[in-house]
Amino acid sequence: MTNQQNAAAAEGSLKPAERSRMKIARIASHVLQYEMPEELGYSQQFYNKRTAHIVEVETDVGITGWGECFGPGTVALANRTIVEQVIQPMVLGSDPLDRDAIWHKIYNLLRDHGQKGMPLQALSGVDIALWDIAGKVAGLPLHKLIGGAHRHSVPVYGYGMMLRRENPASLAARFADEAAAIKEMGFVAAKMKVGLGPKQDVVLAEAVRRAVGDDFDFMVDANHCYTTADAFHVGRALDELGAYWFEEPVAPEDLAGYAALRAGLKVNIAGGEAEFSRWGWRTLLESGGLDIAQPEVCSLGGISEYLRVLALCHAHFTPVVNHVWGSAIAVATNLQLLAAMPPLPGGLYPREPMLEFDTTENGFRDDLLTEPLDIQGQVARNEGRAAIPDGLGLGVEPDRDFLQHFAV
Ligand code: CA
Repeated sequence: MTNQQNAAAAEGSLKPAERSRMKIARIASHVLQYEMPEELGYSQQFYNKRTAHIVEVETDVGITGWGECFGPGTVALANRTIVEQVIQPMVLGSDPLDRDAIWHKIYNLLRDHGQKGMPLQALSGVDIALWDIAGKVAGLPLHKLIGGAHRHSVPVYGYGMMLRRENPASLAARFADEAAAIKEMGFVAAKMKVGLGPKQDVVLAEAVRRAVGDDFDFMVDANHCYTTADAFHVGRALDELGAYWFEEPVAPEDLAGYAALRAGLKVNIAGGEAEFSRWGWRTLLESGGLDIAQPEVCSLGGISEYLRVLALCHAHFTPVVNHVWGSAIAVATNLQLLAAMPPLPGGLYPREPMLEFDTTENGFRDDLLTEPLDIQGQVARNEGRAAIPDGLGLGVEPDRDFLQHFAV
């Protein structure tokens, strides 16, 4: 499927009769991987392979949709099996435009085998690809299909400052340099990892605050490595340092810990990347532990479910800053969703949702697309902002040679 074919299909060469006959012909997973030039870490592990899991849904009329599943390394290999061997047989021959019916069919058939985790991650990639197809058939970018643009560009925050196997003092110096570099590159805020232990983590956060100055937002991501007591120790320091948010301080299951931290700390408590579906999010939001919700569209159930979770978040007056991980397909999906996100609560100068962006080396983010998004270049040129792609569907196409070259 070429861009020209997609464009031709969108320009009306797809007659109503063809559209009504359209069927899902094939679902394929492209799991991509390479050895990273440098090992990186977060509070749970060090890793040295970069992985992406791209989903391709082919139709019998020549239109192809693209999606992405969250999940690194061997998780991607297992999710590929779910996509190709479990989900594909359920939906072959279905009309790809019946995406919500397809979502519920898959979820209902997998419900007894997992209402969270890998079945939902696999479903997410398929659902995103079906929305891409819907946009291409309608001749509309995804954000127009959802309801239109609340904004035509979004501010971008840079995350980096990953853990390394080095002594804490040298890591603090490295974090200071990286934080200053992220600010210098034009990002509107910077996010750091922690995970050495509460005392050392405070030293890291102090180094970052000194490096960026007092008038620049920085956020701290613990990837759920603390007990509630340790999270209070770090959180009180973050209160003093004026950090913007404290992300996944405790385990995602520890709803009481989240609620206690939110009640007892000034810093915003952020989380939700490890939560799934409207039902998981309902419980998370009702427990009152989040100042900022971070749904992951490539994990929680795709765009269909993301939109329901977004409505739930807004029903609880909880602002949303999407979690973003993975390749340029995930970045493009999130740009479309951020364009279509209503301001909360609204006003002349609302705090806008930011795009999360990985500033570490990542070839699947930079080189996957036939026309790269060049987020870093846009950020440097446009005061920290990135434009919303206005092509059909997600508005991006992966390079097939690239997919083949990095295929596992
Ligand atoms: Ca995170």
